[in-house]
Amino acid sequence: MDGGLFEGKRGLVFGVANDRSIAWGIARAIHAHGCRDFAFTFAGEILEKRVRPLAESIDARFVLPCDVTDDAQIDAVFRTIGEQWDGLDFLIHAVAFANREDLEGRFLDTSRDGFLRALEISCYSLVNLSRHAAPLLAARNGSVLTLSYYGAEKVVPNYNVMGVAKAALEASVRYLASDLGPEGVRVNAISAGPIKTLAAAGVRGFRGMLGIAEEKAPLRRNVTQDEVGQAAAFLCSNHAAGITGDVLYVDAGYNIMGM
Ligand code: NAD
Repeated sequence: MDGGLFEGKRGLVFGVANDRSIAWGIARAIHAHGCRDFAFTFAGEILEKRVRPLAESIDARFVLPCDVTDDAQIDAVFRTIGEQWDGLDFLIHAVAFANREDLEGRFLDTSRDGFLRALEISCYSLVNLSRHAAPLLAARNGSVLTLSYYGAEKVVPNYNVMGVAKAALEASVRYLASDLGPEGVRVNAISAGPIKTLAAAGVRGFRGMLGIAEEKAPLRRNVTQDEVGQAAAFLCSNHAAGITGDVLYVDAGYNIMGM
């Protein structure tokens, strides 16, 4: 892909917590392909300290607070963007959360509150943000990209309620793609192999997941933040203009193995 692929494009990124975040890998890759108009959001004051310098390092236009459970903050983000920009070329949704106690032991023991919280933050937020962004995305034939994991399809020990949230997320990608397709808006997901990030550290035994993926994946290694970033850049670019409602694996091939 050429360096100017994203020249003149505008994007909104949810999910940067620090420089290890997959969302940051995606922003860096898209920036390398020529995008100069970024808006970032951060969830809470503590993360602002980390997100703002990263955003400033690529001259982001906006750095806005947004906890996805707070409708007033979501409204404020889209009001600001809508006043300043005539549209959006891409929206990155790299947001997930589950209570630590729900990422270990038995899925059977998930509480109602834990279940609803995981599904609200990790899945409903995609629906909510896509609805808010739809008119801006439609104005520029834009696309939405979210992040999933293999635990959506198969049982991965300790992934538990997050696997259920990712299954709902992947189904949401298809329903959103169907709703927004007639307006020229695409919606896709990347199912990424395990990468050491803040969110990943919340899953009990995550280091073991990295080891097993490395041992079993056809490429005999784990994927990098940059590899997910490059695939995301492809899906958000015109090179993927015919692709929507899809889940693309960026997992060194792990998902194809039966044994
Ligand atoms: P990360 O911790 O860097 O990113 C998770 C982000 O979710 C953080 O920026 C956090 O602020 C945000 N978030 C959590 N609750 C929020 C809320 N209420 N409002 C707004 N934002 C909120 O970790 P990551 O691994 O980069 O995660 C990004 C996405 O990638 C997640 O959807 C995750 O499930 C997915 N994913 C991660 C892996 C992996 O192994 N790291 C693999 C596949 C998919």
